[in-house]
Amino acid sequence: MSDKDYDLFVIGAGSGGVRAARMASGFGARVAIAEDRYMGGTCVNVGCVPKKLYVYASEYGKGYEDGREFGWQGDKPAFYWPTLRDNKKNEISRLNAIYKNLLQGVQAEVIDGRARLVDANTVAVSDRHYTTERILIATGTWPYVPDFPGSEYAITSNEVFDLENFPERLVVVGGGYIAVEFAGIFNGLGSQVTQLYRGPLFLRGFDADIRAHAAQEIRKTGVDLRFEVNVESIASTPDGLLVTLTDGQTVPADAVLYATGRRPHLDGLGLENVNVVLSDAGTIVVDHEFQTSEPGIYALGDITGGMELTPVALAEGMAFARRVYRDSASPVDYDFIPTAVFCQPNIGTVGFTEEEAQARFGKITLFKSTFRPMKHTISGRDEKTFMKLIVDTASDRVVGAHMVGPDAGEIMQGLAIAMRAGATKAVFDTTIGIHPTAAEEFVTMREPWQDD
Ligand SMILES: Cc1cc2nc3c(=O)[nH]c(=O)nc-3n(C[C@H](O)[C@H](O)[C@H](O)COP(=O)(O)OP(=O)(O)OC[C@H]3O[C@@H](n4cnc5c(N)ncnc54)[C@H](O)[C@@H]3O)c2cc1C
Repeated sequence: MSDKDYDLFVIGAGSGGVRAARMASGFGARVAIAEDRYMGGTCVNVGCVPKKLYVYASEYGKGYEDGREFGWQGDKPAFYWPTLRDNKKNEISRLNAIYKNLLQGVQAEVIDGRARLVDANTVAVSDRHYTTERILIATGTWPYVPDFPGSEYAITSNEVFDLENFPERLVVVGGGYIAVEFAGIFNGLGSQVTQLYRGPLFLRGFDADIRAHAAQEIRKTGVDLRFEVNVESIASTPDGLLVTLTDGQTVPADAVLYATGRRPHLDGLGLENVNVVLSDAGTIVVDHEFQTSEPGIYALGDITGGMELTPVALAEGMAFARRVYRDSASPVDYDFIPTAVFCQPNIGTVGFTEEEAQARFGKITLFKSTFRPMKHTISGRDEKTFMKLIVDTASDRVVGAHMVGPDAGEIMQGLAIAMRAGATKAVFDTTIGIHPTAAEEFVTMREPWQDD
C-alpha cells in the first residue's frame, strides 16, 4: 500500500472509467473516481441507452401501419413527445443511481466535480488536491460543431434527447452511424427529416454493399437523404430555422442536429502539467497496456481514439484493472468486434468489409442474398433485407458478415462468436437453420456471388 491518498484515481465515470474503478476496487485497490457531469458517462446519459429507447419508440408507428393487413384496425394513435422524453429521463436517473451504488458497494470513493491533473501523482477537484499512485484518464469524447454562419443554432446529440418541443422538421447533418440513427428515430416519430452528408455515400468504413442498400431502404422510409451537399448557413426566421445548403437550396427546420464528429474530451484536464503525448487527432497515445508516455498515468476508452464503442471501453477497463491489480497479462483482443447501427432497418456487421478482405486475403468468395422479410409479405411494406458473407477462399474461413434488415444487431452477436472461433463456410453450411427466421439465410447461402 502506498503513502498516497489513493492507489488509483480515475477521471471520468463513463463506461471505461466505472468498469476499471469497480474492478480495481474489487481487487483491493483504494480507488477514487471523479465525474463532473453524469454517472455512467456518454452511453448511459446521451448515447447508447437513451438512443435505443428512442429507437423502440420510433418503431411503434411503423408497427401499427404494418398491422393493418394483419387485421388490426382503428386510427393510428398520436405520438406525444413529452411522455417519451420524461420517461427516458426517469429511466436514466434510475441507471445513474445504480452506477453510483455499484461504485460505493465496492468502496470506491465517488467525487463529484471536474478533475484536473496537477502532476503525475496529484489530481485536483475544485480546490481539493488528492495524491495517488496511479491515474486513469477515461474522459471520452464530446460532440463538435464546426464554425459557420448560424452554427450557434445547431444542436448535438447531447441536447437532442431533451428538446423542449418536438421538432416537426429536422435537418440532420452527418453521415456516420449517429447521424443515421437519429434520422431514423425522428423520421419514425413523425418528423419530416432531411439528412445531409457531404460525401458521395454515407456510413464510411462499412461494407460498400451495406452502405448502398441502407441508403436505398432508408430513403423508402421517407428520410430525405441528400449526398454531396453541406450546410452553408443557418438563419433564424419567424417560421423557425432556415438552412441554406451549398447547392443553393434551402430547407426550413425546427431543429438542426449536427452529428459530424466528436473530439477528445481534454478541456481543462491539465495535460500541460504532465508528459502525456497526444496523437495528431488529439487522442491520448497509449500502449497495449493503456500506459501513456507519463509513467503512472493510463488512459482508455474513447479518449484513446479506438473503436469508440461501450463494450470496447468496458473490455479495456477490465483488462487494465486485471493487468495492474491482478497481474494478469491478457490483452484486449480487437479482432472481429461486431457492431450495429440502429437505423431502420438495422445494420449489423462483423469482420472485414469486401474491400478490406480483398486487400488482406487476396482471393475471397462472396455470398449475397436480398429478400423481402416474411412479415412484409402480408404487411405490404416495400422493405428488403440484405445479407452478405465474405470467405477467405484459401482457408474457407468466414471473415466478414454483414446485414441490413430487422434485428441485424441481435443476429450478428452470435455470428461474431462463430467467426472468432474460426468458423469456416463449411461449418456455416452444416449448421441447421432456425425456421422460419431471417437469420437462417446466413446458413443457407450456397451459391457464390458472381458479378454480372
Ligand atoms: C449518440 C451516441 C450513441 C451511441 N451509441 C452507441 C451504441 O449503440 N453502442 C455502443 O457500443 N456505443 C455507442 N456509443 C459510444 C459510447 O457511448 C462510447 O463509446 C462510450 O461511452 C465510451 O466510454 P468512455 O468511458 O470512453 O467515455 P464516456 O462514456 O464518454 O465517459 C467519459 C466521462 O468522463 C467525464 N469527464 C470528462 N472530463 C472530465 C473531467 N475532467 N473530470 C471529471 N469527469 C470528466 C464525462 O462527463 C463523462 O461522463 C454512442 C455514443 C453516442 C454519442
